[in-house]
Amino acid sequence: MPVIVKAQGIVLNTTLFRETSLFATIFTKQHGKVRILAKGCRRPKSKMCGALERFNIIEIIFYKRESKDTYTISDATIIDDLPRIRTRPRAVNGALVLCEFFLRTLPNEDPDYRSYTILEGFLNQLADADDDHVKTLTFNCLLRALASSGIRPHLETCVRCNHAVGYDNATVDFSVSGGGIVCAHDHDSTVVPLHARTVQDLRAVYDKNDALLSEDTIADLERLIPDYLAYHLNGLRLNSLKQLR
Ligand SMILES: [Zn+2]
Repeated sequence: MPVIVKAQGIVLNTTLFRETSLFATIFTKQHGKVRILAKGCRRPKSKMCGALERFNIIEIIFYKRESKDTYTISDATIIDDLPRIRTRPRAVNGALVLCEFFLRTLPNEDPDYRSYTILEGFLNQLADADDDHVKTLTFNCLLRALASSGIRPHLETCVRCNHAVGYDNATVDFSVSGGGIVCAHDHDSTVVPLHARTVQDLRAVYDKNDALLSEDTIADLERLIPDYLAYHLNGLRLNSLKQLR
């Protein structure tokens, strides 16, 4: 017997299927990431038309069958379609970065309330932010998403030997493979220099969520994050991150 499930979720991605249907991957608050088939939803009279758009926060009803990994949706209604993001290309791009991150890193059907809260909070903040803050907000939330994925960078002491790392210099060495800052004795071939301010900014992101990032920090993160994701998440490269403005 199929079980009927009601859930709140955020649409991460959609792909067209046949003439009138589509597949949608939805990050639900209650069940984690699920892939659903919306039959006939692209017909003009479908009630679901418009609800299954990327980043929409929606309520869905779907049939959960134990033996299948794709479910059939029976209803979808919009809770928030975030028009303040949709009309601004830079904000759309910021939203895509986090949606792509969760689309490609979350396991299927594993509830993750912490990550859900980060994404939902991010979309709401993005809707209120002006274009100049899209990048800082996106990196801030991506850094917190790293922590919820279990790969928070180590920023307190040398990640290899646990000794204190001095901040007298203008730069601090960060080992991509080690996943944190390193002292002079623990250099490896993946070390990149970061501004000392960057390390302080990153700590502030993890200590208090609303920290703003300086321009130098953002420039450092644009160099560091792609390699960090690829190294720690199985070669992950976020296409949307390359377009972030
Ligand atoms: Zn060390």
